[in-house]
Amino acid sequence: MTIEFDGLAVGLTRSQIIGKLQEKLSDKRFEHVLRVEQMAIKLAKLNQANVQQAALAGLVHDYAKEFTDQQFIEMIAKKQLDPDLLNWGNAIWHGEVGAYFVEKDLQVADKTVLKAISEHTVGASEMSVISQILFVADYIELGRDFPGVKQAREISYQNLAAGVWYEISNTLAYLVKQEVPIYPKTVLTYNAWIPSQLKEKK
Ligand code: GDP
Ligand code: FE
Ligand code: FE
Repeated sequence: MTIEFDGLAVGLTRSQIIGKLQEKLSDKRFEHVLRVEQMAIKLAKLNQANVQQAALAGLVHDYAKEFTDQQFIEMIAKKQLDPDLLNWGNAIWHGEVGAYFVEKDLQVADKTVLKAISEHTVGASEMSVISQILFVADYIELGRDFPGVKQAREISYQNLAAGVWYEISNTLAYLVKQEVPIYPKTVLTYNAWIPSQLKEKK
């Protein structure tokens, strides 16, 4: 399904955006963002959310994924972002810093969409419905194949917030198992989304 973005603050048409994505993304990643767009549309419909915002966020969320470290470092300086970002790398930058490239190059001015892109990898304590939709759609798009993805889809279709929790708890466990550094915001997201009955037991 193709959704146009004519109701949103966006300077380009969908087909112009597609052209720019194809310039910057490998074929494999381009196919991924098309699948995230479709999954975001599905989740938006299930949750009576804005379908145009969800589709746009899905389509452009990984726009900066193949940018160079130097490009991110320059943007961090230009926008005077938190200097701690310099201790991290592409995995964290392509969302949080990538949103500024989406704003500049793809002429996306919709703040809800930009925020969702910024939060798409590590989430946030408070997330709008569009942020939750992008976070989950990226994880369960139909090309994903990891142990638990079927369960992740079933849970997320039933209850979006439960999908956010499933994703952040499994991602954090995976990252710990990989013995990679945990970005502090990842932990904040985990703590904020623990279902309340578990929280009370602490
Ligand atoms: P993708 O861009 O579609 O591949 O998906 P994401 O944007 O969700 O994730 C990008 C990468 O960031 C994945 O490899 C995650 O495992 C990784 N990642 C997510 N959170 C953290 C974190 O807290 N620390 C580290 N080191 N990596 C993370
Ligand atoms: Fe990403
Ligand atoms: Fe992605």
